[in-house]
Amino acid sequence: MPVLTRLIPSPVVVDIRPGALDDLACVLADERISQSGRLAVAVSGGSGARLRERIAPSLPGADWYQVGGGTIDDAVRLASDIKGGHYDAVVGLGGGKIIDCAKFAAARVGLPLVAVATNLAHDGLCSPVATLDNDAGRGSYGVPNPIAVVIDLNVIREAPVRFVRSGIGDAVSNISAVADWELAHRVNGEKIDGLAAAMARQAGEAVLRHPGGVGDDGFLQVLAEALVLTGIAMSVSGDSRPSSGACHEINHAFDLLHPKRAAAHGEQCGLGAAFAMYLRGAHEESAAMAEVLRRHGLPVLPEEIGFTPDEFVRVVEFAPETRPGRFTILEHLDLKTEQIKDVYADYVKAIGS
Ligand SMILES: [Zn+2]
Repeated sequence: MPVLTRLIPSPVVVDIRPGALDDLACVLADERISQSGRLAVAVSGGSGARLRERIAPSLPGADWYQVGGGTIDDAVRLASDIKGGHYDAVVGLGGGKIIDCAKFAAARVGLPLVAVATNLAHDGLCSPVATLDNDAGRGSYGVPNPIAVVIDLNVIREAPVRFVRSGIGDAVSNISAVADWELAHRVNGEKIDGLAAAMARQAGEAVLRHPGGVGDDGFLQVLAEALVLTGIAMSVSGDSRPSSGACHEINHAFDLLHPKRAAAHGEQCGLGAAFAMYLRGAHEESAAMAEVLRRHGLPVLPEEIGFTPDEFVRVVEFAPETRPGRFTILEHLDLKTEQIKDVYADYVKAIGS
């Protein structure tokens, strides 16, 4: 008999709403993720300490682990600390670094991971990838998807607004990433996963078209859902293809060429996506994307994050080297320095100032 459907690796619980954190213990018990209440909770020293104070009374069976940073060493240390603790699950409570550390540690000790995100800076909160700093710079490690994702919009509101902005840029960049995937399919016959592409694109479109702003619960709800769905899209396709194309190559190039000056992930990805859409000849889409990014206070020109046009041209030129094997509009056009300069000048004119 043929396989009629496929199973999608996805969290058992997705709880996104104001006040979700207060019900964390009940949700985990009800869904049989942790009936005993034995949890290893990884938090940061900073904002994590405040959250710990607030929710520790509702998690009497939890042990708390302070995570230093977002390095592979931090993650390995966390894994050895929680090993042998007879926990039902590991909870990563914090921003991207804490969740990535917890993801890696949970995978290493064979426990499910509950991601409790305290900001919306990028789409890694529900993805099957842990991004950790290592001796070679930064590495991406494959891990299981979280078993539960909890996002309390009241907590998100307390995080600096630049984290929300970064998430917007990362979500919207899906549109450009999926266009790159389709290009690779047309030109190179690369296999495209229609479901993963649909999930990632619709997530990006929902954020792009939502009329609200960073201060509205309605908008934050859609943004958080978009980031979660993007992570699941990556699980469906088995790689970052649905959410990472030329936009992310440009982002990586900023990080690698200017490690000290790089801006937020989503700021660079949003700018990269608006420019990549222009490069592929989707001029109206590029202008519309730039307009939305601007409305949310995100950069659409390199000067807005402290880079000169010449530095940006070099970033675009270097971008394909950051992700060997990934075919995007950058590899397709294979532009020389002078050509990038010309297209950039046209892009600047097209989006206006
Ligand atoms: Zn991203």
